[in-house]
Amino acid sequence: MKICRTVEETRAAVAALRTAGQRIGFVPTMGALHAGHMSLVSLAKTASEATVASIFVNPTQFGQAADLQSYPRDEARDLAMLQEAGVEIVFLPEVTTIYPPGHETIVETTHLANILHGKIRPGHFRGVTSVVTRLFNIVQPDVAVFGEKDYQQLQVIKRMVADLHMPVEILGGPICREADGLAMSSRNLRLTAEDRAAAVVLSQALQAAEDLAKTGTTVEAIRDVIANTIATEPRATLQGLDTVTADTLDNLHGPLTTPLAVMLSVQFSDILLIDQKVIQP
Ligand code: AMP
Repeated sequence: MKICRTVEETRAAVAALRTAGQRIGFVPTMGALHAGHMSLVSLAKTASEATVASIFVNPTQFGQAADLQSYPRDEARDLAMLQEAGVEIVFLPEVTTIYPPGHETIVETTHLANILHGKIRPGHFRGVTSVVTRLFNIVQPDVAVFGEKDYQQLQVIKRMVADLHMPVEILGGPICREADGLAMSSRNLRLTAEDRAAAVVLSQALQAAEDLAKTGTTVEAIRDVIANTIATEPRATLQGLDTVTADTLDNLHGPLTTPLAVMLSVQFSDILLIDQKVIQP
């Protein structure tokens, strides 16, 4: 596995693989890797012949400096996991490599970035699209994989790639879950034992919604079953519940006739957990 820290090294390493006729798959991450990230690496490996992963904690997508400072970092462990998974190249840039001195160019999806989660975290998706554009320009992958867990992020990136004619195929990777159904996240480790046990309520609420949809239902009834399930857990506070079209993320109402993306965020003490499910009519 080749470890690259500069644009030039990365371009040269990717070019060598490309000359050998290999299709390049790319998995961007912020490190603190877990099985969810590794499932994206597996997906990239099935969709390409050589895999590049990046580890970069992107400052422009954090609202508060404290969150950026406290973001977990363990480079040695991350590299061991990527090596074990058979990744060919890891790109580990410094902030000034990605954002050169005097940089002033941003990339933004004007609507999708500023609804739902984007309303709560102003500037977050602009930071994501600005960094992903730079990473794509450096790595120049044929295919890139993003998790469906960050559902709005995936739709924002698909929109950006279509709008800017970026020559990369975007794949969404299914959410990787713990045995009890909790979506894997580096934040799970910060939960107390009691909150960790209670956090199963997110996936239970989404499952209850899917079960209800099998019998034919309305968006309002789905919202009720989710809110009521979360309310059964005293440690959980419902922070966000969005029920939207699967691609354009417009709010849906009334009888369920098209695929419905349910985006859920629930607070446990000071930790916000997210989960989502696309429910078929
Ligand atoms: P992050 O390092 O948090 O920026 O995440 C890197 C990528 O991993 C993103 O595309 C996430 O959506 C994805 N990801 C995070 N958690 C999971 C999970 N539990 N299952 C699948 N993908 C995930």
